[in-house]
Amino acid sequence: MPSPNEIASSVLALLAERGLPPTPANYAHAYAEVSGEPETAISEESNELLQIVHSLVDLVVSRTGSLSDSLVEKNQDMKQTVDALHAAKEKDLIIRLAQALTAKADSIHLSVSETQRDLASTRDTLQRMSTELTETRQSLLEDALTGAQNRRGMDAILNREVALAKRNKNSLVVAMIDIDHFKQVNDTHGHDAGDRLLTHVSMIARSVLRETDFLVRYGGEEFLLILPDSDLKGAEFVMDRLRIVIARSPLIYNQKKIDVTFSGGLALLKEDENGHHLVLRADSALYQAKKAGRNRINIAN
Ligand code: GH3
Ligand code: MG
Ligand code: MG
Repeated sequence: MPSPNEIASSVLALLAERGLPPTPANYAHAYAEVSGEPETAISEESNELLQIVHSLVDLVVSRTGSLSDSLVEKNQDMKQTVDALHAAKEKDLIIRLAQALTAKADSIHLSVSETQRDLASTRDTLQRMSTELTETRQSLLEDALTGAQNRRGMDAILNREVALAKRNKNSLVVAMIDIDHFKQVNDTHGHDAGDRLLTHVSMIARSVLRETDFLVRYGGEEFLLILPDSDLKGAEFVMDRLRIVIARSPLIYNQKKIDVTFSGGLALLKEDENGHHLVLRADSALYQAKKAGRNRINIAN
């Protein structure tokens, strides 16, 4: 899979190829086309960056344009001097013309190397902006508190993983988990303790999950785990591990121990269902786990 930076470069290349200016709308459209991800709205911040990219690209075009104009002019001028040199018979004139030629060659060299320096610095700026844009885009897909993917990030991942699982005939499981009695933590220890608990749980979840799994903050204290290449048995094993590790790692807040448990619902992707339906089944399984007394995992039919 190409890196976000490679995608950003391909997007700019695609726009250039089509002769389209990198306006926010064009960029978003081309990004969706190149990355295969659904098109997302661009934030104001990215919008500003894109305007800068836009003017930088204009600048490059105008600089290369004026360089080529001035080269044509200087080239003609030089040709005339060379012709005069061929025709010259007098020593003094030959010397003067040769000096003039050297000066013209120097001036061409100067304007080429100045433009080269300008272009190199513009290229560096564009590269930095492209990295910044990629990071901005990445942060649009992340939850600021826990660093897990947010719902927008989830959509792209889920669509991709469901399509991959179907194409490769691999199994795919999602797990919806919800912290038990989370409201009590807020009420007893304060909202900040609740926030810390969310970060704590997502950190533990990430440490238990495989590199290829995904953690999404689905709602307030609800997380969706996307487990590619995993069957129900494997997913249950992971969830049990998560339960054990979380039970053994209470959050220490203001020298107090806050114990935490969660309930979860697991669903295995069926042949004829989409990601949305899969998540709904995991969510109903979670609801059943809550109803059955919490602190347990339930498997969807
Ligand atoms: P249950 O066991 O049935 O899941 O009960 P619960 O208390 O965990 O669930 P409930 O839905 O009653 O309460 C969830 C609470 O989570 C309410 C809401 O104020 C809180 N919450 C949602 N998002 C955040 C957040 O970002 N930070 C904090 N601290 N609290 C949040
Ligand atoms: Mg809860
Ligand atoms: Mg909840």
